[in-house]
Amino acid sequence: MKSGVLEHDDQLIPYQVQHKRSVTRRIHLRTAQDGSLLIIAPRRMSQRVIQDALQERVHKVARFLVDAREKRMETPQPRYVAGEQHLFMGDLRLLEITFATARSSHVELTPTAIRISTNEASPGRIKSLLEKWYRARAAEHFSERMDLYAEKAPWVTGERPPIRLRKMKRTWGNCSAKGNITLNTRLMKAPPDCIDYVIAHELCHLQEMNHGRAFYSLQSELFPDWRSARSHLRAKAHVYLAD
Ligand SMILES: [Zn+2]
Repeated sequence: MKSGVLEHDDQLIPYQVQHKRSVTRRIHLRTAQDGSLLIIAPRRMSQRVIQDALQERVHKVARFLVDAREKRMETPQPRYVAGEQHLFMGDLRLLEITFATARSSHVELTPTAIRISTNEASPGRIKSLLEKWYRARAAEHFSERMDLYAEKAPWVTGERPPIRLRKMKRTWGNCSAKGNITLNTRLMKAPPDCIDYVIAHELCHLQEMNHGRAFYSLQSELFPDWRSARSHLRAKAHVYLAD
């Protein structure tokens, strides 16, 4: 992997370069696992061009690294052990783990906790039980909210559009040209109004595929407070999309 160093005041910023076929024009700033600067560049871009482009914008690069470090500190690194806090619909819940002699495991929501009873409390097992549980809650909650918003959307006639669930890294939901709506199961960590916003947003795509004026006017009708939900999701994406 190519690497280089930038100068920012009296500070040196080392970086590594990864060339990607899928990147065609611009340089993208990322951070590596250890928090260091990682540059994603087009396949044929020379080291000289990369270095000059970065050095020219070194203030922006330094700002990016500070922001990325702040986000890292805020990002939960779950270990899936008892006593940890996990988000559910915008609230932090205590993870309670009780030992069960029965072979079947069970997850339930109490007013303050997510309680798991299992005969095997390894982190891997807890993680998979939790994920299954989030997914089941998502299936229930999303379809309930979808029914509600579909009823308010005059362009949705007949059958309610089917929902697909996926655990996604970078997107809350999407709507295909065929009208299939996919929602991110990680949304179950976000507050209820954010979930509603994403559902309303995707329902609007059934009528208007692109984010044009017509789309936003539909969205404002169906979910008037979309701006605050969107900015909350943007600000907390690194928390809700973690792990
Ligand atoms: Zn959209």
